[in-house]
Amino acid sequence: MNNTTPDISVVVPLFNESESLPELEAWIRKVLQNGGLSYEIIFIDDGSNDGSWDVVRKLASENPDVRGISFRRNYGKSAALYCGFDAARGNVVITMDADLQDSPDEIPELYRMITEDGYDLVSGWKKQRHDPIGKRWPSKLFNATARAMSGIHLHDFNCGLKAYRNKVVKSIEVYGEMHRYIPILAQNAGFTRIGEKVVHHRARKYGHSKFGWERAIKGYLDLISVMFMSHFGRSPMYFFGGLGTIMFLFGFIAVIVIIAQKLYRQSHDMIFRPVTDQPLFFLCLLAVVLGVLLFLAGFLGELINRNSTDRNRYLIDERL
Ligand code: UDP
Ligand code: MG
Repeated sequence: MNNTTPDISVVVPLFNESESLPELEAWIRKVLQNGGLSYEIIFIDDGSNDGSWDVVRKLASENPDVRGISFRRNYGKSAALYCGFDAARGNVVITMDADLQDSPDEIPELYRMITEDGYDLVSGWKKQRHDPIGKRWPSKLFNATARAMSGIHLHDFNCGLKAYRNKVVKSIEVYGEMHRYIPILAQNAGFTRIGEKVVHHRARKYGHSKFGWERAIKGYLDLISVMFMSHFGRSPMYFFGGLGTIMFLFGFIAVIVIIAQKLYRQSHDMIFRPVTDQPLFFLCLLAVVLGVLLFLAGFLGELINRNSTDRNRYLIDERL
């Protein structure tokens, strides 16, 4: 391993993909050497138990440009990407899945789009997907929702094949299952030149998919978190406090009106309904209580923010 900055870092998260690795490594090496690009390949073994790490070790001993990180247990694809991003030294960072569904032949063009066309991030688009139909339709829905909510025009947010300017991967924190929303995280961090490239996709050759039906539920909840964090992450009071105030005022004023109306009618000997006979009264009380609780949630959010270590973490682009 040498210490000069390589042109490209290829970051490959893997979980039980031992059969694919030698083929993948040889293919990446061939493409990058032919393209005259210097590179490093970082394999992150996400707690495999099929001997994948032994394969990575062997590859690293044969090729000084191969590096590896091994997790003691399975933490998930986002954690693997996070550590890969942390270790990546290349000017351009490419991520790809280990299962040979993404083609290394795409790398030189992705590299060119970052270095020459000036993109911060280029996402692959598996226009022709070779996955079961039970995966393609939920994915379409997922992408349409993510597009609508984030305003980023990508067709395939979750594509494993992506290219980044080095600065981008050092500025974002991928956790939980957030790897699906890296373009949104990048946008939040201020990297707005986001491009897309149609990429070849192949059917899985070895092993099986590591994600099941629960990905839809997690994906949906994560999208809500990401959007919430991007709009109100630094000031939760604006959300909870705003909503709480509206509910409180609405409930409070309505309760006063109901009570005043009753007292007025009673004192003028008119027909009146007891306050507790009016369903609206209880709804308004509920609104008052919920309003206070929402306000409290906002307040707690602010307190947590105040104590958090990254409340003053701003991304400084340049200093003179
Ligand atoms: N992966 C991982 N940790 C996990 C699950 C998956 O590192 O807990 C890796 C996996 O080995 C593969 C990539 O993430 O390289 C994409 O996973 P998979 O091919 O199963 O997803 P799909 O193609 O079905 O979306
Ligand atoms: Mg796959």
